[in-house]
Amino acid sequence: MIDEIKSKIDTLTTELKEHNYRYYILAEPVISDREFDKMLKELEVLEKQYPEFAHPDSPTRVVGGAVTNNFVNKKHIRPMLSLANTYTEQELRDFDERVKKLAGTKIQYVCELKFDGFAIGLTYKKGKLVQALTRGDGISGDDVTENVKTIRTIPHQLIGNFPDEFEIRGEIFMHRKAFERMNEERIKNGEDPFANPRNSAAGTIKMKESSEVAKRPLDCFLYHFIGDENLFETHYQSLNAAKSWGLKVNDAARICNSIDEVWKFIKQWDKDRKNLSFETDGVVIKVNSLQLQHEIGYTAKNPRWAIAFKFETERVETKLISVDFQVGRTGAITPVANLEPVLILGTSVKRASLHNQDIIDQLDVRVGDTVFVEKGGEIIPKIVGVNISKRPLGTENLKFPENCPECNSLLLKNEDEAAHYCPNEDNCPPQIKGKLIHFVSRKAMNIDSIGDETIDLLWENELVKDFSDFYSLQFEDICGLSKKNFNEINGKEKNISLREKSAQNIIAGIVKSKNSTFRNVLFGLGIRYVGETVSKKLASYFNNIDNLAKASTDDLLKVDEIGERIAESVVKWFKNPQNLIIIEKLKKAGLNFESNENSQNALSGKLMGKSFVVSGVFTNFSRDGIKETIEKNGGKNIGSISSKTDFVLAGQNMGPAKLEKAKELGIKIISENDFIEMINE
Ligand SMILES: [Zn+2]
Repeated sequence: MIDEIKSKIDTLTTELKEHNYRYYILAEPVISDREFDKMLKELEVLEKQYPEFAHPDSPTRVVGGAVTNNFVNKKHIRPMLSLANTYTEQELRDFDERVKKLAGTKIQYVCELKFDGFAIGLTYKKGKLVQALTRGDGISGDDVTENVKTIRTIPHQLIGNFPDEFEIRGEIFMHRKAFERMNEERIKNGEDPFANPRNSAAGTIKMKESSEVAKRPLDCFLYHFIGDENLFETHYQSLNAAKSWGLKVNDAARICNSIDEVWKFIKQWDKDRKNLSFETDGVVIKVNSLQLQHEIGYTAKNPRWAIAFKFETERVETKLISVDFQVGRTGAITPVANLEPVLILGTSVKRASLHNQDIIDQLDVRVGDTVFVEKGGEIIPKIVGVNISKRPLGTENLKFPENCPECNSLLLKNEDEAAHYCPNEDNCPPQIKGKLIHFVSRKAMNIDSIGDETIDLLWENELVKDFSDFYSLQFEDICGLSKKNFNEINGKEKNISLREKSAQNIIAGIVKSKNSTFRNVLFGLGIRYVGETVSKKLASYFNNIDNLAKASTDDLLKVDEIGERIAESVVKWFKNPQNLIIIEKLKKAGLNFESNENSQNALSGKLMGKSFVVSGVFTNFSRDGIKETIEKNGGKNIGSISSKTDFVLAGQNMGPAKLEKAKELGIKIISENDFIEMINE
């Protein structure tokens, strides 16, 4: 019996640590917060009864999370604690009772929305943002100041009557729409989409390159002032003051004079939260009086004067019927679970992503199992656990296939990536069809008369095998083509056939697409990591496809914002003889492989032949804006300083290393004003 308890404590400790790691470091949790809290409570109870078995670094004593390596680790001036969670009205009323007992008086609370993001502590000195630290393990966190400075809603300079020095804590997050847009963009560029806005905010803020962070649409709400304790009497006053200094504070915060009012606030927002532009997963309730907060104090892990109420995420049980392994456009294999249809948040769900092998192993999910399915902030519902008690006899571990389900190639897996992929990019049908769909898409060749169904039709009739085949299609080849199409959603078959009018439109669309610019054609080629922006940069730097095809990795790295991953991918693409044949065919068809943008859109030729390295922050331009102005005046942007650089355009907060290098090489450093004079001369 005693042995069993010890081993139960050991198991719970190890598992909770693993989940902590997945949540904070990998940002890939495999269980819900509620499940986590349940396990934590179980461990707490056992440790209380058998303290001799408790681990010194038990998750019940240490706040989850460790620290990633790339950033300087710094100590928090005060530990960054997380809040205890509650899920029911009763638990909330228990909290109120505890607080009243400790304070010995009637309590006024402040209710605020709980943001589903990434905690951050900002330090301001004399009104200037000087430091941003992540939560880390609660005691010390990573210094991510440079990355945080790229978030537009976080002021670098405060206004009004601010104190000399203070810290303010808050949450970095991503709006739903921005998140969806970013994922669409990632899929288009052949990158894996993020699972949810919270994880993508967490992943973004820890990126190495601040310029990459700046491209991600992050936002931030602030909610906890730490500074001169005599400045305010209440928490609510500190929120209003922070607002007056230019800091972004969410407007939903309300004073509640009783726990009944708090409950009303919670119920109201549980209903209204779907109308918000961002995810909220609950409400935070804090004692308003700072004096009382002080008296009520802390446990080892949480403040006693505050609590989080978590909204219910709807979670249901259903049966796992089978698992399909789907091949995506980039060759990544996604396991998709087929479920017995079940209603979640009003929609019928019959499929859920299982992401990758790691997740399957972690969940130990098997065909025939009864599984828990949740739809939280995520777009795709996910399987969060298995009801082991309902597992039928004779189930087997779910095995990931070794070969591609479409073309039978041996699947590969990079060590640093979770996904398996099919390497047969030139001959694996879903990968080719995906490339064809991308080629005709709006931002590429913009042939809107060709949809996914037409591509299936052309593919199955072996009329189009790569995108150069579009340009040899004749009206007679396609008019009247037909095939049976199986509709996955309603399970019915329908007959598609191309009528005369559609066939005419298709041919006309193909002919018209020959006018597309070089940068659109380049984007259409679907080179991995070469998205819309990168295509534009490559097209204007190399001017034509022959220069680009000849470029070495080093040549490519000279282009503004082109990193190693993109450079290597481009070089690899042009090394493939099959691709060179396609280019030759497309050239013959008359597609545009030369850039003539400089002469068309130019404002002036004042900067013709001059190369610029842009660094720092500017007053009159955004970074992209100033780069665009350089290009429009005939100049070139390059990524890093070399002896060939003509000017370094230095804004505020330019990196000291860059400055030194420019001085060392004797390159002219100009200010924003010098630049404006240059183009207005
Ligand atoms: Zn394949």
